[in-house]
Amino acid sequence: MSKSFDVCIRGDGVVGRSLALLLARERLRVALVTRPDSASADQPGQARTDVRAYALNSASRQVLESLRVWPEAPFATPVREMRVWGDDGGRLDFSADSVAQEALAWIVDVPALEQQLIQAVRYQPQIETVQAPVKAALTVICEGRQSRSRDEFGAHWTVKPYPQKAIAARLEADAPHGGVARQWFSGGDILALLPLSGAAGNSVALVWSVSVERAAALEKLAPEEFCAALQAVCGEEVGSLRLTSERASWPLALSRADHWVGPGWALAGDAAHTVHPLSGQGLNLGLADAACLASVLAQREYWRELGDEKLLRRYERARQADVSAMGAVTDGLHGLFAQPDGRWQALRNWGMKGFARSALLKRWVARQAAGL
Ligand SMILES: Cc1cc2nc3c(=O)[nH]c(=O)nc-3n(C[C@H](O)[C@H](O)[C@H](O)COP(=O)(O)OP(=O)(O)OC[C@H]3O[C@@H](n4cnc5c(N)ncnc54)[C@H](O)[C@@H]3O)c2cc1C
Repeated sequence: MSKSFDVCIRGDGVVGRSLALLLARERLRVALVTRPDSASADQPGQARTDVRAYALNSASRQVLESLRVWPEAPFATPVREMRVWGDDGGRLDFSADSVAQEALAWIVDVPALEQQLIQAVRYQPQIETVQAPVKAALTVICEGRQSRSRDEFGAHWTVKPYPQKAIAARLEADAPHGGVARQWFSGGDILALLPLSGAAGNSVALVWSVSVERAAALEKLAPEEFCAALQAVCGEEVGSLRLTSERASWPLALSRADHWVGPGWALAGDAAHTVHPLSGQGLNLGLADAACLASVLAQREYWRELGDEKLLRRYERARQADVSAMGAVTDGLHGLFAQPDGRWQALRNWGMKGFARSALLKRWVARQAAGL
């Protein structure tokens, strides 16, 4: 007799694995569909080689801690302060102290987080890893932005591509980062250096959003030339930088599925929506999706099926405002800083300076960044 499952999760990224663990905790039987080529990542000690580090907020941390998969220091570095520079003297500073928090966010090593999730899934008897979709009362698609199953369920995907790519890499500075996340907006480019390797460390994770052409040119540069191009933007703010990893790049887009649920299916994470990484919020949104869906399923009336569309709509309604707001904010910021005209430059830097003087507004933004 074939096995029966309550939920089939297609996609084994951070969102898919976290959701599987959340549902297993509710005693649901979960089939987790992994890609055949990601099978090797399930072998102990075989970490994937993603050079990225994610800025995760306190809501994401709570979810991951509750699943016992939060990476310990030095793989999660608290951000005590954020410094943002405009392209004409504008500057904003935010501190964790201003919102009475231990940290504004944590910068989490992606391979370390993935390994924690792989181990947790392996030891959870309610979850079975499978290589192809299986029949279940509910199918949740967590296949990321390039999901194929999305079309199968008839969800229409709208994409607004940005003419940019994000280059990610790891670097070492000759001075400690001091737990400060730094970001520069300059002529449409956005450069972020995020503190890594613990509170007293001197490693940083780079996310540099530049035009597609510039990304291609930057990726071809020798490591020393690449660092020189980088320091032309950030100066000596973090000391001298040395590249310690490969460079990898991602095309960027604001995208969204027109609906996220239907009878017997739901979308979550990047399969449902993507935003520009300038605010470091994509995975925070995806983990909030997972937590929300798990809670809606756990609180269902005893007579409702897991795949009941009315039930799933509660999840869609609960998440849409949050995701729309984040999409609008990141898109608006990107658009504002992409304007090459000098008048726009003056306006945005004037705005930043005005903003810097408003303690109330700054506190509000710091609370949003911290996911409070
Ligand atoms: C440069 C960059 C920096 C970022 N920084 C941040 C940050 O600081 N903070 C933040 O919150 N977010 C950040 N993000 C966003 C974050 O990367 C995504 O939001 C997050 O990875 C989404 O997770 P996911 O599990 O939904 O999708 P994915 O990470 O795309 O995972 C999908 C998984 O599904 C698998 N899959 C696909 N198709 C199938 C199939 N048919 N069958 C089985 N499996 C399948 C894939 O192999 C993959 O493992 C960043 C993004 C970029 C590009």
